[in-house]
Formats: sequence, C-alpha cells, structure tokens
Amino acid sequence: MSNSDKYLPRDSFVPQGEELEPGQWIRVNHDSPDCTGDSQSIKIERKMNGNLTAYCFRCGKRGFDSKDVVRYHKLKEASTRGRRGYIIPNDCDYRSREWPPKVRSQVSRYGLEDKDYSNFRIGYSPSLRRLVLPVFDKEGLAFYQTKRMFDDDENKAKYVTYRNRDAAMVINTLNSDTIVIVEDLISAIKCGKLIASIPLFGNCISDIQLNAIRNYKKFIIFMDDDNRLVKLNQQKICQELNQFGKCRIITGVNKDPKECSLSQLEELLL
Ligand SMILES: [Zn+2]
Repeated sequence: MSNSDKYLPRDSFVPQGEELEPGQWIRVNHDSPDCTGDSQSIKIERKMNGNLTAYCFRCGKRGFDSKDVVRYHKLKEASTRGRRGYIIPNDCDYRSREWPPKVRSQVSRYGLEDKDYSNFRIGYSPSLRRLVLPVFDKEGLAFYQTKRMFDDDENKAKYVTYRNRDAAMVINTLNSDTIVIVEDLISAIKCGKLIASIPLFGNCISDIQLNAIRNYKKFIIFMDDDNRLVKLNQQKICQELNQFGKCRIITGVNKDPKECSLSQLEELLL
C-alpha cells in the first residue's frame, strides 16, 4: 500500500483544521471519488497539544499535521537574521543553477531538485566558498550551518554551525504518523519527500527536538552508523522514543540517507 492510499490528502483536512482551537473538533465531507456515501465522514480534531488529527469513518484514511512542522511558504519570507543575532552571509546565492560547477557536481549526488534548495533557502556564499544551510523552526530562523565544498578550503571542518541555541526543524511534505530521525539537514529534506523527518544536527537528540516529535506514533532512526559512538547514541534515542511509540533503527546501510536513492529510501522507510 502506498502512502497516498493510507493517508488523507492534506487539503482535505488541514485548511478546515487551522480554524480549530485546542480540544475542538469538527466533521466535514470527504469529497473523494473513491469515498462516497454519507456526508461528514471526516472527523478533524485539534489536540490539546496543538497537533491536528483526521480520520474518515467511511474509507478509514487518516491524517496528521504536527504543529511543529516547518512551512515552506514561511521560509520564503523568513528573515536572514537569527534570533540570537547570527546573520546569514548576504552574498548567498539561492539559485542553485548559478552555483559554480564544482559545487553543483558535489550536491548533484544528493539527487535533490533546484526547487528543494530554494524552498529551504539553501545558498552558496562565494565569499565563504561554502554552502549555507539555514535552520528554521516554527518561529523562524534559529541558526545556520556552512558546509565544506572545496578540497582547498582552509576551513577543514565539514560543517560549521553558527548557533547558541537548539532547534527542532520538523519537515513534513506528506502527512504521516511516522517520522524519520536523521543527522543532517540535507538527509532530512531528502527523506521529507516521503515521510515526516527531523534533522538532529548531530547524533544526539535534545529535549526540544524530543518534545517536537513525541506525538508521532512510529519512529525510524536513520544515521550513518559506521562507528560505535553513533550506534550507542542510536540506542539511547531509541529508548527515549519507545516511551512515545514504536521505534526502529535502520542498520547496515553505512551511509547517510542523503546518499541513498529515493527508491532505496522508499524501501527502507515505507
Ligand atoms: Zn473517506
């Protein structure tokens, strides 16, 4: 069964649900060619924690919308100034087609589309000669990272993170009750094409991140687990998440999700 067979499309419950206060619910029609009969079969409920759930009593499809999900259209208008004063370099070019060929070829192996980079405001800074990855949460820009692109970059660090705070960046392009937990932003964007995802910006989970995902029912941990420390941290995260739902760890892939093809991710995640 594919995701679209199991889940209600977002537009069948999210717009109506936006009006609801915590604790309120409504019933609406499920206007779908494959779900006809009695009216008002979908129950949409705003949970006390702010999340939205939906269920069609006729066809059994479900919907879920986390209150912590980062919305693309808000990123487009987002400030380049973080809440604690970090400012994204102003020479950032968000048009990935215009990036230097070396940079384009480096990022091309992730298999993302140009619009993915512009949606998430990922840019290339010619002065830094690094990719700039802004990190948003539901309140806006939280911090940003830069990623090494050139072998002769004097800054040897693969990632440099400009932050003094923590952030939960839940990405959800389809509604699902499963979330995948990954290490880095590009992996989260890649997995986010299939199910909800959250990048940890490392391999430990913070309280803020844990809190943002605790209402999902199933958790999948997918990290590059080629060393003991990562394996150990995965176990710790899994234990914490098992309090809230079922958690499984993907092992033996030995690469980041961003290095996997979409069809490989489908097999591993869905
Ligand atoms: Zn239905």
